[in-house]
Amino acid sequence: MKKEMILRLEDVGFSYGDGRQALSHVNLEIFSGERIAVLGPNGAGKSTLFLLMNGVFSPLSGSIYFRDRKITKKSLNELRKGVGIIFQDADSQMIAPSVHSEISFGPMNLALPVAEVEKRVDHAIAFMQLKGFEDRPPHALSGGEKKRVSIADIIAMEPEVFLFDEPAASLDASGTEALEQMLAKLSSQGKTLLISTHDVDFAWRWAQRVIVLHSGTVAGDGTLSSVFSQKALLKEANIQCPMLLLLTEMLERKHLLRENGRVPKIPEELEALLVDYGAGNVCKEC
Ligand code: ADP
Repeated sequence: MKKEMILRLEDVGFSYGDGRQALSHVNLEIFSGERIAVLGPNGAGKSTLFLLMNGVFSPLSGSIYFRDRKITKKSLNELRKGVGIIFQDADSQMIAPSVHSEISFGPMNLALPVAEVEKRVDHAIAFMQLKGFEDRPPHALSGGEKKRVSIADIIAMEPEVFLFDEPAASLDASGTEALEQMLAKLSSQGKTLLISTHDVDFAWRWAQRVIVLHSGTVAGDGTLSSVFSQKALLKEANIQCPMLLLLTEMLERKHLLRENGRVPKIPEELEALLVDYGAGNVCKEC
């Protein structure tokens, strides 16, 4: 079944007004339900792209379409409602004195009936495992807890597209694991997810598609295998190769893997492909 296009950027350009182009000639089509990793070195334009996609900024040239509707000043609210952004720095997103009022703030601004606001807030609190935190002041929470509140803020807005700007940047291992579980849950509900990250191993196990930004332009866009096989692009954009892909390529060169036409996404998949010498297989190069 062909996926529905939800967001389209057509020849988009943007500058912060200092004479330099932060983004130029960006053409992208985003389809509903996609899991996309946005990669690129610092300053490549990832945050700027997200701020344009969610209507915080408007393009200086080119156009943005949400569900086939061209976004203009008049329709900007549709984009803001349909696309939620979770900033890297959770503090910059939080304004209210308690977790409950913080999460209520967005839905209340949509002028929804009180019962609907409460329903959304309850759902967001349960989804982000924040029960018991309702009366706590957001500024007094740990980094990981703040991040959960900042995600709950956006979940309560019920956008179709979620943009996560380097969500794991300040998280420890258990926070990162919880984040990945939450992303899997959102994805299973059909939400469209774009995540900017420097963690290529995360991108490798999580994403279906990779967009590479470099110097404000889209330097690569495609499946994981197609993008990560472009070694010159990775070098140019200063992006590492995922460890599991490197290992797989190395083991393949040594004929130590059974072929199954798939590249492993997690260590257990790699282990399942390892040639079993005990069962009589012989490495041709050994
Ligand atoms: P990334 O998120 O990939 O690190 P950004 O989108 O933050 O990249 O930045 C893209 C370009 O825009 C960079 O050259 C950066 O210096 C510039 N830039 C970002 N924010 C501002 C700002 N508020 N004012 C001026 N220039 C900015």
